[in-house]
Amino acid sequence: MKAPAFDYVKPKHLSEVFALIAKYGDEAKLLAGGQTLLATLNMRLSEPSVLIDISGVEAMRGIAVHGQTLRIGALTTHSEIEASAIVAANAPLLSKAAPNIAHRAIRNLGTIGGSVAYADPAAEWPTCVVALDAVIVVQGPTGERRVAASDFFLDLYQTALQAGELVTAIELPVKTATQWSDFSELSRRHGDYAIAGLAGCAQRSGNVLSQVRLVLLGIGATPLRAKRAEAFVEGTPLTDALIEQACAALKDEIEPVADLTSNADTKRHLAGVLLKRMLTNAARGA
Ligand SMILES: Cc1cc2nc3c(=O)[nH]c(=O)nc-3n(C[C@H](O)[C@H](O)[C@H](O)COP(=O)(O)OP(=O)(O)OC[C@H]3O[C@@H](n4cnc5c(N)ncnc54)[C@H](O)[C@@H]3O)c2cc1C
Repeated sequence: MKAPAFDYVKPKHLSEVFALIAKYGDEAKLLAGGQTLLATLNMRLSEPSVLIDISGVEAMRGIAVHGQTLRIGALTTHSEIEASAIVAANAPLLSKAAPNIAHRAIRNLGTIGGSVAYADPAAEWPTCVVALDAVIVVQGPTGERRVAASDFFLDLYQTALQAGELVTAIELPVKTATQWSDFSELSRRHGDYAIAGLAGCAQRSGNVLSQVRLVLLGIGATPLRAKRAEAFVEGTPLTDALIEQACAALKDEIEPVADLTSNADTKRHLAGVLLKRMLTNAARGA
């Protein structure tokens, strides 16, 4: 199928974007990398009369460290994050997760802002930003607000973005010397959306993790923190017995939502497999 006819505008500044949103209201859709939006247009799941292409807004680009904060502009592509030495040094979880996003051609165009704003429950970035306790920087016609990633994802494809607002950047605390993080997912073929995935982040001292955040993708309607499993792991040496207990707690606390290929029991099992592997590697110092 082909997309319905639409008008196309490409502003260069945020002020122009807000003026266009005010002019067209619900008739308009923002276009970033187009890797999700164009597919929904072609399938006629969405029929905006105007596309506002924000990819020319330079203020929404770039990766930089300011003090203890890593700021990634919303228009930064998945490939740019994957290749960035600044990201690798300051938020290695993102470097590890990036190659799991779709295929190279999609990573070359798709953006972190688009992924976070779209809030697909099987997407990698929403889960990583919750695991890293990031802040989503949001701007509307009346100014900027900062929303904790853990408060941003409200429900299936629903976020804390209000009408007329867009995501302009993601801010992450820079990696500390003791930070541990890891990412892993299982999918049918490389490049497919994951059946289940897990992002982990903590402070590590020997084989003890603290301030543990374990966040699942592909399991719930939003990135899902496994809080009971986190509590088992928090501040306790990672023995084989503890890892088994944490995995049992995880499988007990989640109510996976089935998708087209996998039922809830499969997803529960795979979430346990991911956690066991991740904690076993952490215990070995990997
Ligand atoms: C075949 C295929 C496989 C894929 N597999 C994966 C995968 O495994 N993992 C994964 O995470 N993603 C996957 N994707 C999606 C891809 O990562 C997209 O790039 C991403 O979801 C959206 O980013 P975008 O820049 O392309 O956004 P667009 O498609 O341009 O926009 C998506 C939506 O977000 C809105 N939007 C965009 N930017 C902003 C912003 N800054 N502020 C507010 N709203 C905004 C748009 O209006 C639109 O509603 C896949 C896509 C395809 C086509």
